[in-house]
Amino acid sequence: MPTRARSICFQQDLSTGYAIGKPDTGRRMIRWEKNSMCNSSKRFDRRRFLKDSLLAGAAGGILAAALGSHSSLAGEQVAASSAKVVRVVLPPKSNDLLEKILGVFSRQVAKRCPARVTTQGEAPLTVALTLDPAIGSEGFRISGRGGGIEVAGQNELGVLYGLGKLLRTSRYSQEGFTPGSWRGQSVPQKPIRGIYFATHFHNFYHEAPIEEVQHYVAELALWGFNTLLVWYDMHHFDGFDDPKAAAFRKRLYAICKAARDVGLEIGLITIANEAYNNSPAELRVGADVHRGGWYDCAVCPEKTGRDGRSGLDYILGVLGEEFDWIAPLRPKYVVIWPYDQGGCGCEKCRPWGSNGFVRTGAKVAGLARKKLPGVKVVASTWYLNREEWAGMAKAMTGKDGWADVILSEGHIWKLDGRPMVGFPEISMHGMFPWGGFGASVLAARAARQWDGVKAASDGGFPYSEGIYEDITKVACSQLYWSDRPPAETLREYIAYEYSPEHVDALYKVMMTLEQNHHFRWWPEQLAGADIPAHWIPNRGAKPQPDPGAEDAWATVQQVDKALPQWSRSSWRWRVFYLRALLDARLKANGGTPDARCNEAFEELIRIYHAQGANPVLRPPAPRKK
Ligand SMILES: [Zn+2]
Repeated sequence: MPTRARSICFQQDLSTGYAIGKPDTGRRMIRWEKNSMCNSSKRFDRRRFLKDSLLAGAAGGILAAALGSHSSLAGEQVAASSAKVVRVVLPPKSNDLLEKILGVFSRQVAKRCPARVTTQGEAPLTVALTLDPAIGSEGFRISGRGGGIEVAGQNELGVLYGLGKLLRTSRYSQEGFTPGSWRGQSVPQKPIRGIYFATHFHNFYHEAPIEEVQHYVAELALWGFNTLLVWYDMHHFDGFDDPKAAAFRKRLYAICKAARDVGLEIGLITIANEAYNNSPAELRVGADVHRGGWYDCAVCPEKTGRDGRSGLDYILGVLGEEFDWIAPLRPKYVVIWPYDQGGCGCEKCRPWGSNGFVRTGAKVAGLARKKLPGVKVVASTWYLNREEWAGMAKAMTGKDGWADVILSEGHIWKLDGRPMVGFPEISMHGMFPWGGFGASVLAARAARQWDGVKAASDGGFPYSEGIYEDITKVACSQLYWSDRPPAETLREYIAYEYSPEHVDALYKVMMTLEQNHHFRWWPEQLAGADIPAHWIPNRGAKPQPDPGAEDAWATVQQVDKALPQWSRSSWRWRVFYLRALLDARLKANGGTPDARCNEAFEELIRIYHAQGANPVLRPPAPRKK
């Protein structure tokens, strides 16, 4: 889950067959796990990708023009001129949430142009925010009102999403803010539109200045996400009172608070037999299960210590402290995880997925409901095999069933009447170190995976290790919102984050980057990095043809000269620019980096704040001796 490199093998498998609904998926996951070699021959089908992408691109453009992108009423064109002052009119009964949401809007405008957003005085443009409960759940409507614009939300989140749409369709220049012409109503299809931040390994979420992470949460929310999941990974710490644990909790709390401040729900991922680094030796798992990642401090719930306390007592003790800590932020979800990391293979616990996990999970679920009133308990099925799933499903449908939601990735495992959510991997697939080569674009892959489960799924929590997969995250947000084709989403992203003048050219570059997404390797790449050998999925990867890499790099250089300064210097553009640079130069050099490539790696390290990151996340600049 919360990660270990070995699951990369499994995820790669998903990229090809994507074994949706296949009954043996669970079994395959385990077989792959045992085989530490990733099967690079089973990577994705380029020809099919190109065909899909081209079709999607052509169809997306036509559809967008003809229908508008979302649901009803779209496409009305409204002539508008630029304004130097935008007056936002809050509803008479405004609240803190709307004020914070207004702050997000103002910051986005201020970043892009000299227009001032105010709630006072006269202005050539007014944007009225209203609440209209008649709009479908979390939906929004943008309409004209008295020469200005009205953004109505079914609730505050709807207002936030409506402002997101207005921001993305508007234009920005030195003359000011020119409001977008999109008019219509849009209501999300799926209720659980989440993102999981893997807050560990000294990645961006773990190390960046907290304001950067908080702003990023709000920027993702503008695209329609409604839930943020995080993990308080105890194995880093010697108990709740460890000062390092306290400092980490403070950071995690601040990230979760940023989500709550703009109306998002939050949730915690937990391991059913979670433990700190200093867990009592006599309670530790004796017969480990090593399915995915593994921590030696894991505790067997069935053991009893010298003081008469059981492993279960220990687990409920440490999770109880965690639930008390997060309670003021009223989390909506507690997700209970079986393997990777977690599990116990002792006589009393095995098979963990349908036995120890179900029993321990019931106690953890009860504790969560007691300490966090109203919380929904999500049972993860990560790394369960089919037999375990059958046993777990049987236990869950009885009177002692404890899951409100089932998390199932890569297959449709669903309990009657209960929502099912996914956990798609968008961070580790096909690139190592993760994010090491700049922007990672896996939007078409995400859409293919979504196609296989969307009829049964209520949404998902893409797995994120950083900001380098921003484009894929955004594609996922819109798949959950309206099954919107990535071709449309990415075009809107380009217009908003880069430039509306270069949408076609940059969309073509994005397609090239996804097509040429693959492992790269040179012998000195990870020299001096402390990584277990079986964690290195790219070892020995051969250079690939990378068609179009030169054209993509030429386009990016050309556009770079024409971009407004705010965009040109933004991290979103720089990671995109550097990816095109690296693809082209590595291709030209037969796969070996030159000095310019090393500069690019260094810049990526600065952007991610990855100076001290785990080698799996640190762009592969040569290490200083
Ligand atoms: Zn056990």
